[in-house]
Amino acid sequence: MEASAAPMARRLMDEDTFTENFNNVNWPRKTYLCYEVELPDGNSRVPPGWDKGFLRNKPVHVAGPPRDAEMRFLDLISSWNLDQKLRYRVTCFISWSPCAVCAQRLAEFLRENSHLSLRIFASRMYTKRKYGDYEEGLRTLQAAGAQIAIMASEEFEHCWKTFVDHQGRPFQPWDELDAKSRYLSEQLQHILQLMAPPSLPPLYFPPSHPVPGPSFRSLTGSSG
Ligand SMILES: [Zn+2]
Repeated sequence: MEASAAPMARRLMDEDTFTENFNNVNWPRKTYLCYEVELPDGNSRVPPGWDKGFLRNKPVHVAGPPRDAEMRFLDLISSWNLDQKLRYRVTCFISWSPCAVCAQRLAEFLRENSHLSLRIFASRMYTKRKYGDYEEGLRTLQAAGAQIAIMASEEFEHCWKTFVDHQGRPFQPWDELDAKSRYLSEQLQHILQLMAPPSLPPLYFPPSHPVPGPSFRSLTGSSG
């Protein structure tokens, strides 16, 4: 009786799933993605209760082809048929940074959907080259307008409060959280800064003086 009168509760992640997947010193073989959509005024077309949520990649043992968490998120957001005249701000917290394929697809999505902005916080860097050049993928994603950063304690705590069924328990940072986060953040900055700003002049300057070479005379010697 009581349950039917209350608004439908949003599904929350259990504590162990969060800790197992978002702990930045772990190395789990799956990806979780938590998302938040800042709703614009007016009819946002986001179904009630769906502005925040989480999903994971479709694993190989489930029927059908595997699908990465980012692709499933794009499937979801595309299904809402958002209003092109409104502005949507989307934030994703992903347990692994996007692979090269997902980064390219997210970049395409942003270029095709200028009414939507995207911020991505990743718990860890996905650095396998199995799906292509992940570094190039991240730079393409950034060039398409996405903000990409590594999760720090502030973001972990925010996710805990927003997406986890914590039963009132506070977020407990794990050992090495800050150190690992700083290390990964430097790694990401290094990757993203390799993209030269368009204002820089070309790096090649022709030499202004002929380069002196060995003198012909010195090579012939003086035997005669
Ligand atoms: Zn991917």
